[in-house]
Amino acid sequence: MKESSDIEPVRDSFLPYGRQFIDQEDIQAVINVLKSDYLTTGPEIHRFEKRIAEYVGAKYAVAFSNGTAALHAACFAAGIQQDDEVITTPLTFAASANCVLYQGGNPVFADIDEQTYNLDPEEVRKKITSKTKAMIPVDFTGQPVCLDKIIEIAKEHDLVVIEDAAHALGSTYKGKKVGSISDMTMFSFHPVKQITTGEGGMITTNHKEYYEKLVQFRSHGITRDREKLMNDHGPWYYEMQHLGFNYRMTDIQAALGNSQLNKLDRFIFRRREIAIMYQKAFKDMDEVILPLQGNDGQSSWHLFILRFKSKKLFVDRKTIYTELTKQNIGVNVHYIPVYLFPYYQQLGYQQGLCPVAEKVYEEMITLPLHPSMTDEDVQDVITAVKKVIQKYSTNKGIK
Ligand SMILES: *Cc1c(COP(=O)(O)O)cnc(C)c1O
Repeated sequence: MKESSDIEPVRDSFLPYGRQFIDQEDIQAVINVLKSDYLTTGPEIHRFEKRIAEYVGAKYAVAFSNGTAALHAACFAAGIQQDDEVITTPLTFAASANCVLYQGGNPVFADIDEQTYNLDPEEVRKKITSKTKAMIPVDFTGQPVCLDKIIEIAKEHDLVVIEDAAHALGSTYKGKKVGSISDMTMFSFHPVKQITTGEGGMITTNHKEYYEKLVQFRSHGITRDREKLMNDHGPWYYEMQHLGFNYRMTDIQAALGNSQLNKLDRFIFRRREIAIMYQKAFKDMDEVILPLQGNDGQSSWHLFILRFKSKKLFVDRKTIYTELTKQNIGVNVHYIPVYLFPYYQQLGYQQGLCPVAEKVYEEMITLPLHPSMTDEDVQDVITAVKKVIQKYSTNKGIK
């Protein structure tokens, strides 16, 4: 076998796996806020919340400083406390489980389905105990989790469903937008997500009592609602009724969010186009497994993940990853199963807990996917992946 250096880079500039798309309108929207009276708790926040609620078809939306803060608030609103158990997936960003720990609860990891990479409802069922209070399913890569089954299980056991839709703004499940279905749904506006506010997050819900708790938690546990006050010292009086945080989004962020929201449908359209180009390019390659196209769900394609079959290649994922990086293709891996991190290992979670997630993790590589990619960029990725596969395929010479 020849040295790996025999692969020439397919491109000179580095192509990141994810990136924000900012135009002149976005810049102007931020400048306008900076010149206005309110940098925070102003009109842009209310407008952004209202527009996200309308977009997903939910009654309420509450903006947060980031998606992780939003998840924390949702755990609070769901009543998660000391020793409560909350079931989530290991194949996610650490925040999906950390938010349970913030409330003193225990994250419980259920294994994923090998085809969809989302939580397997049957595995969820096996993990339910008398201490289970909620579930945090994740719409991994933008592909909605099978919400019908998740909600059915939740109803049977009286659990709150907090959907982590950080990847899934604009995705639909059985014709309904993600964000209108679960008890609470979280969106993130980190720069790699469908739209950005720099940092930012949102919870959407149809339940007034969750809405009110989320708003209060976001601002120190303080209320100014005269009807809710336990005491009243006078017109200046406000009241802190539980321990909350300062998790507010600024109007600067919300203005960027409002401007980005105008482009969301275009962004998703482009993401879908790119995903289709990848699907077409790799569909006949025996060495890789393509992401499942939704039947119940329509993905807004936050991530495009290829699985490299270890039995069909001479090398492991690490070599493929390194070679693609050398060709200036910014690949990534989503995700390291959360409980394998040293912090979780110290808490007592053990390797082997979710064998499907661990196996899938070993074979996954995330390809670049963001709306500012040109067709040439997409072609570069395809060329680079094909080159690497051809170099290491056990089917060499057949194709
Ligand atoms: C991005 C992300 C989060 C956290 O959102 P932040 O806005 O970065 O705090 C949570 N869960 C998942 C699955 C994510 O991808």
